[in-house]
Amino acid sequence: MQIDESLIRSVVAQVLAEVGQAPAATSGFTGRRGIFDCAHEAVHAAREAFERLSERTIADRKQVIDIIRQIAMDQKVELGTMEMNETQIGRLSHKIEKLETLGKMTPGVEFLESKVYSGDHGLAIIEHAPFGVIGCITPVTHSLPTITGNAINMIAGGNTLVVNPHPGGKLVAAEGVRRYNEAIFRALGIDNLICVIAEPTLETADIIFHHRDVAMICVTGGPAVARAALNSGKKAVVAGPGNPPVVVDETADLDRAARCIIQGGSYDNNLLCIAEKEVFVVNSVFDDLMKAMERAGAVRLNSAEIDRLTRVAISEVEVNGKKKLVAAKDFIGKDAAVLAKAAGKTINSQVELIFGETDEHNPFVPVEQMMPFIPFVRCHDVNEAIEKAKFYEHGFRHTAIIHSNNVRNMTRMGRAMDTTLFVKNGPCMASLGLGGEGYISFSIATPTGEGVTTPLTFTRERRCSLIDDLCILGHPSKS
Ligand code: NAD
Repeated sequence: MQIDESLIRSVVAQVLAEVGQAPAATSGFTGRRGIFDCAHEAVHAAREAFERLSERTIADRKQVIDIIRQIAMDQKVELGTMEMNETQIGRLSHKIEKLETLGKMTPGVEFLESKVYSGDHGLAIIEHAPFGVIGCITPVTHSLPTITGNAINMIAGGNTLVVNPHPGGKLVAAEGVRRYNEAIFRALGIDNLICVIAEPTLETADIIFHHRDVAMICVTGGPAVARAALNSGKKAVVAGPGNPPVVVDETADLDRAARCIIQGGSYDNNLLCIAEKEVFVVNSVFDDLMKAMERAGAVRLNSAEIDRLTRVAISEVEVNGKKKLVAAKDFIGKDAAVLAKAAGKTINSQVELIFGETDEHNPFVPVEQMMPFIPFVRCHDVNEAIEKAKFYEHGFRHTAIIHSNNVRNMTRMGRAMDTTLFVKNGPCMASLGLGGEGYISFSIATPTGEGVTTPLTFTRERRCSLIDDLCILGHPSKS
């Protein structure tokens, strides 16, 4: 389905234009449906919405979340198509699936379990209170999906949010937020629980980072924004970059490993931060794994083709006076067929992943490429494979994967990597409950350590103590 960008722009403009005429029945910001040009106004509106949400029950929060879930699931095709048309990266079917998955599987108010300590000296209850307004930065790789997951988590915890989306995904961000707020307002009479900056810039991000009424921030993105958040002076939940390595040892089920590497490494054309980015394989099974990859539908490039692709798909930039290799923008999230063409090879457009043998010094190994080309590096033994995996994960402590049936090797790699997610014998997404156990979020907090974020990530613990009463067990002699 082709969605006209100008239509989205005009809807956003219309909402902004209507502001002047919006009835100021409940607040000066009611009627904005969360869409703001001015970051200060967005924070004020989110603060007002927070105060209104604080007067409501947990059942009301659940109703808000159910509305967001329903829209994400029911309108996934339209919104996913908008995201694809605007960002021009990834794969349409996965854009659609991501919205459905986040709508269905993001944890909600059920995560807010209180803890109770009861004993001879009475009762202490630990409950989870909101922070207030949360400032969010979201990536172009998953613009509306990240906002959807963040909104469900944060509102479940009783918070409201102001989002500075990536400029490359700002239209779908605004349109999704408008739809969520519209439906929430109709059902509960509260507007602006989710606010979004219609024209996001580094300046608007900076205002949000330092605004007095923003209680905490949650950023999802690469190294620059992770650093900016850590330097903001506010409590920050940082879902930072990764470069997930895969190790395949001599005990692995090679056909299963190949299928998993293709499934995870090609999902949304490798835009997932948890996606398989480079593979270290024990020499004795290297050639068999390469054949298994071809049997499973991936297409192998030869070394001349890999060289051609590397020259155009990885570029050199200067960051703070230092030269750095990065993925070239024109190739991030593009189809395998587009990469293959740049390598000088014509392949079927249905092919999900291309791959090939490189040494560890090929830039595709150290660079978080976010493209469906995966380099395979031959290693003498599993120790060398784990050592290289650790080195090229760069200490992000994000995600690592092993295919093995040797529990000692799994244990050794798990200990060595020390990553937030460690997957054994599955594709990366199994660690987020997609084919494995657990729950999902698209903000996986790595340097700040909260892991896969949940409503509890966005709450403060509060303790309520009653001394010497209401513990109804036993018969203390002097009561
Ligand atoms: P990006 O770093 O280019 O942008 C992310 C967001 O940060 C955007 O909104 C951008 O406008 C903003 N930004 C960048 N520099 C900033 C600064 N100095 N101050 C304030 N805001 C700034 O990343 P991207 O291409 O949009 O997304 C891909 C990156 O995000 C990858 O590195 C990927 O690993 C990471 N990511 C991590 C997770 C996770 O859960 N850990 C999830 C998704 C993506």
